[in-house]
Amino acid sequence: MARNNRYSRRLNFTDYTIYIGKADRTNDGDGNYSPAIAIGSAQYAGTVFDKGGYIYVAGMVLSNEPCAFLVPEHSKNFNSLSDYVRYEGEHLVLYHNDRRRYSATADHSKGGSHPILQ
Ligand SMILES: [Zn+2]
Repeated sequence: MARNNRYSRRLNFTDYTIYIGKADRTNDGDGNYSPAIAIGSAQYAGTVFDKGGYIYVAGMVLSNEPCAFLVPEHSKNFNSLSDYVRYEGEHLVLYHNDRRRYSATADHSKGGSHPILQ
């Protein structure tokens, strides 16, 4: 994906540190298995994501440099987990290769979602 966009920096798995966090929920509101981690609403306050002071995330960038992000622990649905890993990686690939596009897509509270890179 990233290579199709002519990005060249930070494309190796070894460039990344991935932290696995304990999930604060295992199922979404519809009862589907969807582990997520609760974080403060911050800029998502008042959006559809806001659960009352917190939101659930399936991944979160912790550091742009070095590249590090967090995903919730999964006991199944590993395809979803690999998607979440790829999605957080998108933010970091953009940060290191296309700062303008990074800024335009980093904050989902204003809309936009994953995948970013096609
Ligand atoms: Zn994202």
